[in-house]
Amino acid sequence: MAATRREFMITTGAAALGASASKGQSAGVPWYARCYRWGQTNITEKDPERYDVEWWREQWKRTALQGVEMNAGGIVAYYPSKFPLHRRAQFLGNRDLLGELVDAAHRDGLAALARMDSSRLAEDFFRAHPDWFARTAGGQPVRTGDDYIPCINSPHREEYIPGILREIIERYRPEGFADNSWAGMGRDTICYCDNCARRFRDQKGKALPKAADWKDPVYRDWVRWSYARRLEIWELNNRVTKAAGGPDCIWVGSNHAVLASQSNTFRDTREIAKRTPLMLMDNQSRKDGGGFWQNTDDARYVHGLVGWNNFVLESMAMYQHGNGYFRVTSNPPAEARLWMLSGIAGGFQPKYHHIGADSLDRRMYQTAVPVMQWHKKNERYLVNRTPVATAGVVWSQSSFDFYGRDSAVVLAETPYRGMLHALYRTRIPCLPIHVDDIEGEADRLAVLVLPNVGSMSDQQCADVRRFVERGGSLIATGVTSLYDGDGEPRADFGLASVFGAHLQGPAPDRMFAMAAAPGAEGARGRGPGGAAGGRAGGGGGGRGGRGGAAAGAGGPTSALFASGGLGRGPATVHSYLRLRPELRASVFGPHISGEPHDSGVRHPTLAGFEETDLLPFGGSLIALGVDPDRSVLCTYVPPFPQLPTDAVWMRQERTDLPGLIVGSYGKGKVAFLPADLDRRYGLDPIPDHGRLLGNLLRWTAGDNLPFTVEGTGIFGTYLYRQENRLILHLVNATGADNQKALVEEYVAIGPLKVTVKLPDGVKGHSLKPLVSERPLRFRVAQSVAFEIPQLIDHEVVVIE
Ligand SMILES: [Zn+2]
Repeated sequence: MAATRREFMITTGAAALGASASKGQSAGVPWYARCYRWGQTNITEKDPERYDVEWWREQWKRTALQGVEMNAGGIVAYYPSKFPLHRRAQFLGNRDLLGELVDAAHRDGLAALARMDSSRLAEDFFRAHPDWFARTAGGQPVRTGDDYIPCINSPHREEYIPGILREIIERYRPEGFADNSWAGMGRDTICYCDNCARRFRDQKGKALPKAADWKDPVYRDWVRWSYARRLEIWELNNRVTKAAGGPDCIWVGSNHAVLASQSNTFRDTREIAKRTPLMLMDNQSRKDGGGFWQNTDDARYVHGLVGWNNFVLESMAMYQHGNGYFRVTSNPPAEARLWMLSGIAGGFQPKYHHIGADSLDRRMYQTAVPVMQWHKKNERYLVNRTPVATAGVVWSQSSFDFYGRDSAVVLAETPYRGMLHALYRTRIPCLPIHVDDIEGEADRLAVLVLPNVGSMSDQQCADVRRFVERGGSLIATGVTSLYDGDGEPRADFGLASVFGAHLQGPAPDRMFAMAAAPGAEGARGRGPGGAAGGRAGGGGGGRGGRGGAAAGAGGPTSALFASGGLGRGPATVHSYLRLRPELRASVFGPHISGEPHDSGVRHPTLAGFEETDLLPFGGSLIALGVDPDRSVLCTYVPPFPQLPTDAVWMRQERTDLPGLIVGSYGKGKVAFLPADLDRRYGLDPIPDHGRLLGNLLRWTAGDNLPFTVEGTGIFGTYLYRQENRLILHLVNATGADNQKALVEEYVAIGPLKVTVKLPDGVKGHSLKPLVSERPLRFRVAQSVAFEIPQLIDHEVVVIE
């Protein structure tokens, strides 16, 4: 029986391949390696009454799709399932919508990806199988709205879902499966059902943790055990689909591009990527405080895990997703397209996304068309290529977990994003890399950047140390390496010798940077209204202004960030950084007696600040011992009242708390920035912070620059190597990034002067702009130099 099904599968697959082979693709390549463009209509229960399949087939053709994702089952079934508890969509009637859609896709030579949702079930299911559902410590079922949450350790996942997968494969032969919410309950809820209690005892020899307490080793065990269970589910579902549908019938779940979201639901992105040839990512639009650059970086970090020859699909919303969720009205086309183009620049395969099969707002049906048609025309330059980068910006999911704990967004994700954003502005190419890939990537990177990677194992520290010893440069911020692999504080930084900096006294509270530092006289509550008066949120309440500021800082801030986006932060601490040497005695402005007359020259990382001795900061610093071979380039100035204006003067002029320490270790340059300006820039992009972070990269990178681009504007530049050619993407975000408003029009920039170094094997005799398609004048020597007269939304230049 199984053999027959498999033969049928192969036949069907061959027919589909035959259809797309006529589009110039080679036969024999599995669907997940040949479908460049995707579309998805998230079916609603109303849709069986109104789904115009023939119109959608035309739309698939207009948008040059090669694969479609359609809802199949899980919560509700869009086909007449044989499982009595697999509830049919309310308006399904006698229609077999899933069957019609898979059939339509196959007739058009498209791959069909069947979408499941295993996250919740209705009450009748709960009554039939009460032992399959998650339970609170008190034994109550865990609910969401009217529904019940099935436990990921129950037969629901081991028997019921596999049964549904087999049924769908036997009837419809989709090429593969996705599952929108496959990972079960998040980290904030411990399931105490009998299945969980028994499994945890069998595997770990102990009872479930009593509460979510990161200091409790049992809870940390439970976190790791929960991660392992998600990988088991991943493998189980793939065994089921491959056994029933053939070796290419894979199950790809769904993952979120936002790292803290992966952490919250125990999805280990790196381990998952080892288990699949196709990643399906969800992050449908720009969020408050984020930018288009973020989508490019997300594509690049996922490719770093799954490989640059494998495909990564991303859902991209055609409806209004960025500001509020208006699910059935159109996103402005400029906004949606720029998000798509940014993702494509990073290597995402576009998958446009609608909710509902019929919208009264018809504008959204035009949005993807030009992008997808352009993509089709140039697809061979958009896959199977490797990035060229100067710096690797390191991320670590285990640091998100064990350092970030319940505040991972503010402690881990915000510094990571803030750093990427600031470095983007330098036009020096950076690439996100996973902390466990440092050793493997070391040869092709000149600089490593560790943006507040608080928790690092001894091995990870050793990898970084070796990278610098051998001549790589390092930028690290905040409390990088101060915590071990469990997130417990070390006696000193794991990278203390590399930083040339040493902790004095015990490790501070995790949230100290968000509070005024000890000794910050008059920081809070002085005078009418108080320094931070009127600011809502986590900054002020009950902490007291003097001394011991770190204590108890976790509470309100954690709560604020538990549900917050990247753009929301605690109240600003109005602290500053005093630069060294102080130059104002010889700078235009008023002069006072006793003004320092420092001699000496500023370090190149302070370039551009010649007329100031003070920078805004907004965080806190702790006492550090600094090795004598290092230079301290700025020190902390504690906050002082902001109101009334009569009170705005420095109470404490100086401290010796270092904000930036530079020097060298082994053969490499090192910049250690205890002042976590990356976190600050992630919350609140202050230009001085961006400049200083950029200067750190410029200093550490030296002349390791694969290209330069001159010209005004805010744009992303991304370079790739593919065989004997280079491919340079430019994405224009001028007037589009860092604004809450959705983008309605593009602000054209140019001319841009571009110089690209030619590596061995690339001649530079031909330049092809894939967007403007107008010939470019260029000069070739060791590098190729050309001018892009105008950049509207994006350009891609192929250099051969
Ligand atoms: Zn359970």
